[in-house]
Amino acid sequence: MLDKRKFFINGEWINPIEKNDFEVINPSNEKSFAIISLGNNEDTNNAVEAAKNSFLSWSKTSKEEKLDLLDKLLNIYESRWDEMSETISLEMGAPIDWSTSQQTDTGSGHIKAFINALKSFEFEKNFNKESDNIISYEPIGVCALITPWNWPINQITLKVIPALAAGCTMILKPSEIAPLSAMLFTEMIQQAGFPKGVFNLVNGNGEGVGTLLSKHKDVDMVSFTGSTRAGKLILKNAGETIKRVCLELGGKGANIVFEDFPEDAIKRSVRRVFSNSGQSCNAPTRMLVEKSIYEKVINEAISVANNTKVDIASKKGNHIGPVVSKTQYEKIQNLIQSGIKEGANLVAGGLGRPEGFNSGYFVRPTVFSNVTSDMKIANEEIFGPVISIMPFDNEDEAILISNNTSYGLTNYIQTEDKTKAKRIAKQLRSGMVEINGKSFTKGTPFGGYKQSGNGREGGSWGLEEYLEVKTIAGWK
Ligand code: NAD
Repeated sequence: MLDKRKFFINGEWINPIEKNDFEVINPSNEKSFAIISLGNNEDTNNAVEAAKNSFLSWSKTSKEEKLDLLDKLLNIYESRWDEMSETISLEMGAPIDWSTSQQTDTGSGHIKAFINALKSFEFEKNFNKESDNIISYEPIGVCALITPWNWPINQITLKVIPALAAGCTMILKPSEIAPLSAMLFTEMIQQAGFPKGVFNLVNGNGEGVGTLLSKHKDVDMVSFTGSTRAGKLILKNAGETIKRVCLELGGKGANIVFEDFPEDAIKRSVRRVFSNSGQSCNAPTRMLVEKSIYEKVINEAISVANNTKVDIASKKGNHIGPVVSKTQYEKIQNLIQSGIKEGANLVAGGLGRPEGFNSGYFVRPTVFSNVTSDMKIANEEIFGPVISIMPFDNEDEAILISNNTSYGLTNYIQTEDKTKAKRIAKQLRSGMVEINGKSFTKGTPFGGYKQSGNGREGGSWGLEEYLEVKTIAGWK
């Protein structure tokens, strides 16, 4: 059993004020393998105080010094790549090859992209030639960074790196379900030599440390990624102190497939839903298919599902792993059950574990067809390897169905007709649109419309989230 009970506060690994153990579970075998502590009020206050005290000097640190430290961090991250991949794989169940090539890769990609954004970012801008005013961009202060378990290091680096680059100080509270990648990352921060108090880590749950940080009078900003449920609570808790709250929440991405879809579109799209065992907020989980090709597409989706292997996370190879926890497993089972009850056609996968598994949080890759917009499986984020397929008659109807959701994170279009794709992309109410499987470049803004959140992470947009804007007249 790994003992990971300490917190990182003011540059030191220290014991929690009181004993409050929490077991971290390996989702492949349901056995606990590490113990962390859940922090209390005093632990949280100590971390906030450390961040507050270090803000005065860190906020004045030069761009060159910050770049130097971030470069060091990048080198350390790359030299400890395998450790990071193994840790993520163990704590949240990502198959080791996927963890190495995808999960860990996001971290270095974001560090590099923010280094580039910082290099070119102008912290002082002239308003215009005639005016003697300047616009000064200044670090917002002490930031609470609250992250989930599904892409742990992706979400940590999307917050910690721009906060550091902006000159903010911070308290990271990672998900209590998958906290070990965050603790390994903290070791890297320590190794890189960031000044004490700039970065602090306190483990805890949402009701405890998460809520304390959201309400804290000395926290200037909360950046949160996770469920819309928790996002709403954070907004309410932060209201009293009017702190900035940046939210990256769930999604229920529509994927509009036209008759003239590119050859690989169906296989690629269905795999995309199943990858990471369906635990991605931007997954294209609602597949809208033009009626003329509906049956053909369903058959292809069934074939992808039936050929998707499920196995334990430590095994090498091209399979999907378990979902993260018993709670998530049960939530997914309930949603599959509701799909059946509400009359959708279950054409692949279904309830229970895949054949050969009696333990572990393994879910069968599942395809529902004839889904309608009023069904739960068309509206709720399932966060498992489950795809809902529905037909459409024409472009306008496809746009209507796509936008008929409380979410607005990522939507997808599959057609060889570029003019049509562009026309539709502009009408989709989401922060991101992907045409024909083209991937987003690192450093572009990531975020959603509506209940998918209000923030934009990545590149200069991600940096600006951590900055206040000041107008100074009479500067010139
Ligand atoms: P969650 O939102 O409850 O947890 C994410 C993080 O928020 C964790 O660090 C947690 O401790 C913290 N948290 C929870 N409640 C909080 C509160 N009231 N105040 C402050 N912090 C709080 O997510 P979950 O329960 O682990 O997953 C539930 C669902 O959320 C999933 O099924 C999925 O639909 C969604 N989810 C979305 C994302 C995403 O990237 N958009 C990530 C994880 C989960």
